[in-house]
Amino acid sequence: MAVTTTSLAPLDWIVFKIAQRCNLNCTYCYVYNRGDDSWKGRPPIVPDEVVSAVGRRIAEQCAKYSLERFVVEMHGGEPLLVGKARMQRIIDSLRGLCPGVELRLILQTNGLLLDEEWLVLFERNGMSFGISLDGPPEVADRHRVFLNGKGSTRQLLQNIERLRRAGPRFDRLLGGVLCVVDPTVNGGDVVRWFVENGFDCFEFLLPDVNYVNQSPGWPGVAPFRRFLQEAFDAWYALEERAPQIRLFEVMLMAFMGIKPQLDALGGDLRKLCVVESDGSIGVSDVLRFCQGEFSVDRLNVATDPLDARTDAYRIDEIQRPSAKCEACPHLQSCGGGYLPHRYDGRSFANPSIYCEALYAVAERMAAALRADVPPSLIQIRPTAAGSTAGRLEVSP
Ligand code: SF4
Repeated sequence: MAVTTTSLAPLDWIVFKIAQRCNLNCTYCYVYNRGDDSWKGRPPIVPDEVVSAVGRRIAEQCAKYSLERFVVEMHGGEPLLVGKARMQRIIDSLRGLCPGVELRLILQTNGLLLDEEWLVLFERNGMSFGISLDGPPEVADRHRVFLNGKGSTRQLLQNIERLRRAGPRFDRLLGGVLCVVDPTVNGGDVVRWFVENGFDCFEFLLPDVNYVNQSPGWPGVAPFRRFLQEAFDAWYALEERAPQIRLFEVMLMAFMGIKPQLDALGGDLRKLCVVESDGSIGVSDVLRFCQGEFSVDRLNVATDPLDARTDAYRIDEIQRPSAKCEACPHLQSCGGGYLPHRYDGRSFANPSIYCEALYAVAERMAAALRADVPPSLIQIRPTAAGSTAGRLEVSP
């Protein structure tokens, strides 16, 4: 999942799928286990000519919109499967093709192949990385399993411990942790587990389901509502020891009139695109599990500019909030949720399937702010919808 912190602007971020295979087979994975098999027909490792075409398209995009900075988020599958020599070649190629552009390189990994040499490579190239970790092994390994079905989290934690023993590099380069929510556990316990294990920046992701595509055993929204409320309460109670949890921070900031972009909270999808290992340009890799027109490749870096997909996939139209969201007192913080979670088989003109959970945690935040933020700084207004929830806004 991509996070940007700038307001509306041209596309300046790509999720680049440099590897199309993985050494894990997570049960909830939107790439392998949710009905989209397009990965099978793409190169397992991105070919050099696709990397070159991506570099040229980034340079073209930056020139067109006078962009000085651009983000390339390396993804998979598992991106470390490309190997170190190949990774260095990819980096050199992209940087060589984008002179004058500050290319920020980040990478999302399951962490199992990470070693000190990878960290040195990241450091040498000014990269940071994120790790996917769903909490303690007894929770995470219900889903994060190797291809043989065995849990992977103990091995990951041992790996992290070894890297931390070797010095501060691991924590210095770690941008954050992505945690897919397992709603059978207490959200507060998960927050405390991360803090106790030395992770001070993480993100909760809600499993990718929508009104027509739900994973087997998906329990409905209520357990997610409880989880998020427990997690928020635990996080808020930690006060100055609270880690960064972007989902909560971005929602809270919206109550103060600031709304950094987070695609899980209705962030503008014109800002970023996904490029597959065969050069196909898509809206978002997660959107592929909506299938239909969103799983059809229409554009490629060999022939099309990166921003062509705004029109090709009707992004302006499909990301518009639903009528219910437009009338909701919490639209500003929730943003209508993550676009793939809004799909009903025909359109995205719906609240997120997680609406009830997002609304409830927004209510919790509003209550916390009412109690803690000095009245001279905030105003609580009744909403257009007449809800008693009110919207908090910074006084002029
Ligand atoms: S809480 Fe529900 S209705 Fe309100 S903006 Fe979010 S998804 Fe839409």
